[in-house]
This record gives sequence, structure tokens and C-alpha cells, in this order.
Amino acid sequence: MTEQTSTASRSAVLHRDSHFIPKRAIGGKGCYINLEDGTKFLDSTGGAAVSCLGHGNEKVQQAIKDQLDQISYCHTAFFGTNVTEELARALVDSTGGKMSKVFVMSSGSEAVEAAMKLARQYFLELSDPQTERTRFIARLPSYHGTTLGALSIGGHVHRREPFLPLLSKNISHVSPCYAYRGKKDGESDADYVSRLAAELDAEFKRVGPETVCAFIAEPVVGAALGCVPAVPGYLPAMKAVCEKYGALFILDEIMSGMGRCGTLHAWEQEDVVPDIQTIGKGLGGGYAPVSGMLINDSIVQVLDKGTGSFRHGQTYQGHPISCAAALAVQKVIQEQSLLENVRSMGTYLEQQLRHRFRNHPHVGDIRGKGLFWGMEFVKDKTTKEPFDKETRLSALIQEKGLCPEFAISLYGCSGTVDGISGDHVILAPPYIVSKEEIDIIVDVTAKVLEAVFNEIK
Ligand code: PLP
Repeated sequence: MTEQTSTASRSAVLHRDSHFIPKRAIGGKGCYINLEDGTKFLDSTGGAAVSCLGHGNEKVQQAIKDQLDQISYCHTAFFGTNVTEELARALVDSTGGKMSKVFVMSSGSEAVEAAMKLARQYFLELSDPQTERTRFIARLPSYHGTTLGALSIGGHVHRREPFLPLLSKNISHVSPCYAYRGKKDGESDADYVSRLAAELDAEFKRVGPETVCAFIAEPVVGAALGCVPAVPGYLPAMKAVCEKYGALFILDEIMSGMGRCGTLHAWEQEDVVPDIQTIGKGLGGGYAPVSGMLINDSIVQVLDKGTGSFRHGQTYQGHPISCAAALAVQKVIQEQSLLENVRSMGTYLEQQLRHRFRNHPHVGDIRGKGLFWGMEFVKDKTTKEPFDKETRLSALIQEKGLCPEFAISLYGCSGTVDGISGDHVILAPPYIVSKEEIDIIVDVTAKVLEAVFNEIK
């Protein structure tokens, strides 16, 4: 038995990988996490683009403690709480009133499930119900969560594969807006958008427009593609296709929203407003498990005039501690003007990444927005040929970053090209990150890449 396997068998935790038992985190402050072996680890991805305020924020900690002293839980079928009301009001106000109600849950996957069910229920609640609407159109590759509904609409080949027989058949997938690989040589953004709109239009026609509940997309594709923003005009064009066929337009902002891309909501930069929006990660910054669904007034009105009851309750919806954490995180972001820091440090991070890696023989593309940046790796920059799947490039980079001599978080994912091959890493530092810390992130990333590429040569 290897030492690692014996450690694994001693742990009662079902770890993500039973062959890899992670070191334990015992503290954290700002952009750093302290590990049990004394390592100070630079959390340059905030976990999975979660810890937007970094670690150990005392205001958030105090708000959670205050809420515990007041009321820690009550069932929403019986009572409401001030803190849930206050959070929902703050979120609605943050959209300039464009969205009018909020449903608070615990995880991103739950938010996506709720969005799918609300979309379906909306069509049943219309004065002239559209009962045939049962389908969803999403994109490949994409990731919308791990529960069966969310996994069904997602297009993450590896995460879906073992469960394919359990997934919904009412889903179809179209191409993502992925300029690096999808845009043809010499094609303008406008022509690329028209081509993708035509593809979506054709898919509506193929499945029968009267059967589609909604089209769902991430404004900036996170884990599945590595921080790929849509080209200008793409999201409004997709919404126009949805409107043409009376379907809803859902934006999944769980990873890219709540300030990560430089505005509180990613759609604010896109001249488009969703019918339903999902949020998570940066909403509570990791201080509590919390996610949400923001609902456009047009849907709220239909529900109000119908049954008035969203047929989707959860024991922990609107949980007071989660709401207190999220409210405090959002107040700190506002009070400390952190979105300005996301924009200015985001620009600096972009400059440094481009300066440092533009000429790297294996960095094919650098893309992102705000403090949400991805680098895609290729074997050959001219042909864009990816590394063999067997190389496990993104996993090697992430693992190397974890070594004490580097101690940096590089969120590596594979399947970038077609869900199977292709590699990228994501950088998503906390909104409080400083210029000096960005210099360290870029420097150490360069050292990690050098070490990995030397090893696989
Ligand atoms: N949607 C997107 C865009 C995500 O990035 C994720 C998680 O990475 C989810 C949904 C699922 O969120 P969770 O892991 O909190 O269930």
C-alpha cells in the first residue's frame, strides 16, 4: 500500500479523488490560505472563482455572528426574515429594477434547476398555457452544474459521460461563441454572430419552436472553456432568436457574475437583460453556501396572475446565515468600491499576462474580462492542435502549482476543444488583489509553466 493510499483509507471523507488527499487549510487572510504544513498558499483563483473578498474578512464574519445571535434558521413556509428581505432588495436594486424578485438557495446547481423549473412553470401559468414547451437549448461545451437537470443542459463531456442514461432527452446543444476556435479566418464579429444566430434559429426550427422553454448560456464561459467572453452583439442576437419563438432567455452568471467581470452583472456590459439569471459563487464569496435566481418582472407578473406559487420549495431556501453572509459581502464590495479594483486590476492582469505569455510557444490564447482570465494551451500555435489527452496537461499544471515551492492556485480544466481534448487554466483572484500580488501571480505562473513544459518535453 502506498503512503498516499494508506492516508486515503484512514480518511472518512469521500475526497474528490481517493488517490489525492489534499493538505488541510487551517487559516486564511486576504489572498492567502495557510496550510497545516506551514505553507502560505496564494489563492489566485479564489477556489473556483468564489472567494471574491479573499479570506478572513472581519466585517463578513461579524455579520454572520450577529445573524447567529438573532435567528439562524426558520422555515420559509412559516416565516420570513429581515436579512433575506434585505438581500433580495439589494439584489433587485443592483439590476436597476430590471429584475424584480429573488429566490435564494445554496448552490449554483440548485439555482440552475430552479431556473429550468421556473421557465417550464411560466409557460403553464400563461392565461393561454403553452404545455408543449418542455425543451431547453444550451451550448457545447458548457457547465451549468452537477445535479441531473443542470448536468443535462450542460455540455461538459467528462462530467456527463457516466450519467448519460439518466440525463434528460429534452435538451439540445448548439455551438458556443468561442472566437479563438469558432470564428473563421477573416470573418467579422458581426458575421460570426449572424452565423451563430442562424444556427440557434435552425435548432429552434428542427425541434419545433413551440416545444422550447428557454435557451441558456454563460455570458463568459467559465470552467468548460476557460473564461471565454462572447463577441460583441452575440447575446442580444441570441435573445432576439428566443423572442422570435416566444422562448425565455436564461443567463447563467454563477461563475462570471456578481462583479467577477467588472460589473456586478455580466449582462450589464452586453446590452441585454435576461428573463431569468442565476448567481452564486461571488454572491457570498465562500463565507456561506449561497446562490440565487433573479427573475424578470414579466415572469413574476405571469406567476402572480396565475397560481402565485412557484412549485419548488427547499428546506434551506432563503437561509438567514447564507443571506447574512451574502449581504455583508455585497456591502463590502460597494463600500470599498471593489468593482473599480476589479476593473483596474483586471486591466493590469491582462497586460501582464499578454506581456509575459504572448510569445510562449504553448499559450494559444489569452482571454477574459475583469478578474476572470483563462489561458488555453496548444501543442502547435499555428495549427492550434491541442496536447494529447494522455498528457494531462491542465492537471499537471494545477498539481505543480500546489507544490510548496510554487504554492499558487491554477485552476486547470481539460476538454476545451471538444469536451475531451484541450487544456486551459483559469486565474480569478479576489477583488481585493493588489498590483504586487498580481506581479507574484504572473511570475509564479510562469515558473510553474516552465517546470511543467520542461518535464513533458
Ligand atoms: N453554473 C456555472 C456557470 C458554474 O460555473 C457552476 C460551477 O462551477 C455551476 C453552475 C454549479 O455551481 P455549484 O458547483 O455551486 O453547484
